[in-house]
Amino acid sequence: MKLPKEMKRYCKYCKKHTTHKVIIASSGHKRSSLKKGSIERARLRGRGRGYGNVGKWGSKPAITKWKRKTKSTKKTNIQYKCLTCNKVWLQKKGTRTSRVMLREGEKVKGQPKEHS
Ligand SMILES: [Zn+2]
Repeated sequence: MKLPKEMKRYCKYCKKHTTHKVIIASSGHKRSSLKKGSIERARLRGRGRGYGNVGKWGSKPAITKWKRKTKSTKKTNIQYKCLTCNKVWLQKKGTRTSRVMLREGEKVKGQPKEHS
């Protein structure tokens, strides 16, 4: 799904249609290799040695057919920031898409179709 960088929406605070900046809310941080909070890093520091495995230090089992995720898409999470009063509005309803992209250097005139 492609979205324009800016669009005109109704702002409850300004009580009129103003230009809003489209922001894609990030999904937070994920564990990656050798970053803080990674199991690999903890292991290098010497943790996870000795007896016992508290469900943490073993290898991960192979992904079986019934363990695979059924959904390959996620719902969008878009914020609209009013450029007049700097208030951020959340989208009303998310739609399922695999990827959300912002269109570069394009402005939409008038009221676009509500796809939030
Ligand atoms: Zn506003």
